[in-house]
Amino acid sequence: MLPVIALVGRPNVGKSTLFNRLTRSRDALVADYPGLTRDRKYATAELRGRRCMLVDTGGVSGDEVGIDAEMAKQSMAAIHEADLVVFIVDARLGLSAADHTFADLLRRSDKPYVLVCNKIDGLNHETVINEFFALGLGEPWPIAASHGRNVNALLDEAVLPA
Ligand code: GDP
Ligand code: MG
Repeated sequence: MLPVIALVGRPNVGKSTLFNRLTRSRDALVADYPGLTRDRKYATAELRGRRCMLVDTGGVSGDEVGIDAEMAKQSMAAIHEADLVVFIVDARLGLSAADHTFADLLRRSDKPYVLVCNKIDGLNHETVINEFFALGLGEPWPIAASHGRNVNALLDEAVLPA
C-alpha cells in the first residue's frame, strides 16, 4: 500500500487546486483503490521521488459556506484512512468556526498532520498566518497552491521529511 495523504479543509480553501498541482502527471487518477468512493478523489503522485496516494475531499458537498454533516463525515473517513493529513486553511477568508471543527476532528484522530495556510499570494504571509495559531495545531505553513509558491518547500520540509 502506498502512503496515503489526505487533503482536508472547508470548501474553497484550495484543496482541489493543490491536489491537481500535485497529481497532474498522466495516469494519476486512480479508478480502483480500496475504499474508493465518489465523495473523495484519489490519485497517485510522485512527491520528491516517492510514490504516494493523494486524497481530495469535498467533491459532493453542496454547501459552499460552512461545514455540513456530510462534509464532516467524509472528512473523518478521509482522515481515518490517511497516513498523513494536510489540513488547509484560507489566508484570505481568515479563521472560521469550520476551521475549528476540522482542527478538533484532527486532534481526535491522532494522525500526523501539517497545517497549511493557502492563498498567501500578494499577502504578507508572516502576518496572515498569525490568527491560525489559535487552532492549536502549531505553525501554519504558508503556500499559494494556484501559483505553486512554497509548495515544493512544503513537500521537502513538512510533508515528506527525509
Ligand atoms: P476546494 O473547495 O478546497 O477544493 O478549493 P478549490 O481548489 O476549488 O479553490 C477554490 C478557489 O480558490 C478557486 O477559485 C481557486 O482558484 C482559488 N485558489 C486556490 N488556491 C489559490 C491560491 O493559492 N491563491 C489564490 N489567490 N486563489 C486560490
Ligand atoms: Mg474541491
